[in-house]
Amino acid sequence: MNRRDFTKIAGLSALTVGLKTMPGVAAAPAPQFSITMDDFNWHNPVKLTAAERNQAILETLRAHSMKAALFVIGHNVEENEGKQLLAPWNQAGHMIGNHTYSHRNFNAPETNVKVYEDDILRAEALLKDFPRFRKYFRFPMLNEGDTAAKRDAMRAFLSQQGYRVGHVTVDNSDWLIDLRLGARLQKDPAADVKPYRDYYLQHMWERADYYDRLARRVLGYQVKHTLLVHFNLLNALFLGEVIDMLKAKGWQPIDAEEAFSDPVFAAKPRVVPAGQSIVWAVAKEKGAIAKSLRYPAEDGEIEKARLDKLGL
Ligand SMILES: [Zn+2]
Repeated sequence: MNRRDFTKIAGLSALTVGLKTMPGVAAAPAPQFSITMDDFNWHNPVKLTAAERNQAILETLRAHSMKAALFVIGHNVEENEGKQLLAPWNQAGHMIGNHTYSHRNFNAPETNVKVYEDDILRAEALLKDFPRFRKYFRFPMLNEGDTAAKRDAMRAFLSQQGYRVGHVTVDNSDWLIDLRLGARLQKDPAADVKPYRDYYLQHMWERADYYDRLARRVLGYQVKHTLLVHFNLLNALFLGEVIDMLKAKGWQPIDAEEAFSDPVFAAKPRVVPAGQSIVWAVAKEKGAIAKSLRYPAEDGEIEKARLDKLGL
């Protein structure tokens, strides 16, 4: 926060009051963040079994007293094993949301609206009996439509079905770092995981800080963040350290359902292609800021080059 913001927030003039000596003046509100986890892909165990990965992530959330939102791909809970892995999330009070049955890309020209709607309902049929299921929908790859017609048709469908969009505010490439980590461990099970941890922490702070600054600039208030992470080995090993890091930076953990009460999640930016972080999409809708935005925002291209350079 610079000096000018400080005086604005405090409602005081720096000319009349010495900034350093002002007692009890409220600083800018601390960013709040929640954990929203996607996919529930447990069929790809590396280093830890699916049950161990599940337990590690649940234990991290328990230790931090955070209730997350888990956006489940329906086909991952079709088998009994998947249902059994999901049950403790429900018991621990985490929110369960819909992430389609088969994780199609809605922006692909061949994905039509009807097929996609059926995919959402097919996932709902598998998830709805979990008491912690809530009608929040997260678009796979955060792709909400490659045309205005598809975008608007899907918004109408979700609304008719009683769904709200479980938007992400802090997008990132945790999935790519996990892919690299998994590949390394497949080759060399004894490989040192610390460089991946260091990279991940730095990446997450960079992305969290970026989207937080963008949100404050675009929205003019301190949004309640929904951090995107995936159900993978990387987070089984290091999600706790991501949370610790954000706390150390002054960010406050909150539950995902509380985060979703923020008005930004009701925004319907009229951009095409639709999707990405909701903060990004709202920024995109505002022409002046849009010029500085990259698209796709987080498809991993930038991180791939950086990881290659480090030999990760
Ligand atoms: Zn996904």
